[in-house]
Amino acid sequence: MDDPSNLEIHGSILPKENIKILETIKKTFTNKDNHKRLLITIFIAVIGILSFAAYKTNEINTRAFIVYFGDEEIGIVREQEEALNILANIKRELSTTYDMDIVLQKGLKFEDTHAKDELLATSNELKNNIKSKMSFLVSGYVLLVDDEEIGTVKTKKEADEILESLKEPYLGEDSENRKIQEIKFVEDVQIEKREIPLNQIKDSKELLQYIQTGTEEVKTHIVEVGESLWTIAKIYDMDVEDLIEANPEINPEKLQIGDEVKLLVPKSLITVATVEEVKYTEKINYEVEIEENKNMYKTEKKVKVKGSPGESEIVAKVTKHNGKTVAKKIIEEVVIEEPVTEIVVKGTKEVPKTIATGAFLMPTRGRISSRYGMRNGRMHRGLDIAARTGTPIKAADGGKVVFTGRKGAYGNLVEIDHGNGYVTRYAHCSSINVKTGDRVYKGQVIAKVGNTGRSTGSHLHFEVLKNGRNQNPAGYVR
Ligand SMILES: [Zn+2]
Repeated sequence: MDDPSNLEIHGSILPKENIKILETIKKTFTNKDNHKRLLITIFIAVIGILSFAAYKTNEINTRAFIVYFGDEEIGIVREQEEALNILANIKRELSTTYDMDIVLQKGLKFEDTHAKDELLATSNELKNNIKSKMSFLVSGYVLLVDDEEIGTVKTKKEADEILESLKEPYLGEDSENRKIQEIKFVEDVQIEKREIPLNQIKDSKELLQYIQTGTEEVKTHIVEVGESLWTIAKIYDMDVEDLIEANPEINPEKLQIGDEVKLLVPKSLITVATVEEVKYTEKINYEVEIEENKNMYKTEKKVKVKGSPGESEIVAKVTKHNGKTVAKKIIEEVVIEEPVTEIVVKGTKEVPKTIATGAFLMPTRGRISSRYGMRNGRMHRGLDIAARTGTPIKAADGGKVVFTGRKGAYGNLVEIDHGNGYVTRYAHCSSINVKTGDRVYKGQVIAKVGNTGRSTGSHLHFEVLKNGRNQNPAGYVR
């Protein structure tokens, strides 16, 4: 095939030769002898002109361009337009496919050349060559949290919506008792337009979840038979507290088979701070004042004035981070109801030993020989404790001696009023150590075991009366 550079050289020689030929034609016209030579010369000239014209035609018809995409040759075209159109089409296709602005990283360059038709690249070849060598960027909107890239979405609108979605759960509704005054991010959050590779664009829902939980994917566990949060925590080597925190909607006591348990404590990458003004009422605890009374025993206590809590209306400014209160400032507090101080009177008088303690002791040592209840068709109203004559009998509790002396079937009897509704009786005594009107203390020896009255054998007959009615002493002593 013709080398274009050769043709070039040829072309530059031919015009000069043509002028020579024409000059020769002029000269030879005057020379009739050379008629034959003239014809030959004309013939040569015509051939020369024709071949020059043919060459020119060929040169114009083979004019072409080597197309470079970046630095790589991708084919030869007759017209630059062809390649430019193909690239524009590819760009348009990409924009439509991804619904984004496409930024190609390389452009087309052209170099003059000559080529016959069969050397030209077809549209398809060009298209495929461009595509295979193409790398492109798309416009995305990157979310920056404290200058750190968190993720990129396709549009500014998507980025804005993510930020709105983050705030939404904490907005709630304003009411008379709650007004949101401010909502903002704790971190410095920016949206920036960037040109980035397509694969870095994230789905906005995924990015939102990533921001809210601090992870790409939330792992879960499906509850099986017999499992509890405690056993699940063990499986994943977690703290139960973390599991509970990660699943605020699950009641740990009421875990059901098939429940989905999240295995991660969400740690939001962006903190939503809200400042709200809240109005609420709060109880005011009442104070308790002690009033001393020297006429009452130390052990005695009496409520003179019953206390009652008051109530105040509070207006406070509450700062929350992701819904959790981090600061609270009371800006107004109005008492609607004053609390009533409780006044308690407490005795200061030393408690005498002879005051009843409320608990009885076993009045003597011995063997229980007969219990309280029916005996030979008659009611036995006491507890019999068999003991040798002369064994000491002790007052079962502190009190005042109200009877001493002989009393029918009881024989020698001591009766003590304990001052708390209880009276105790000690019967069949051999001797009595106290007299009526004496105050005795718990455990004080008041008499000795004997066999007086209706008695068969030395023993103590012990009775307990409550408000004048006999009780089973077994319920009071052991
Ligand atoms: Zn008895």
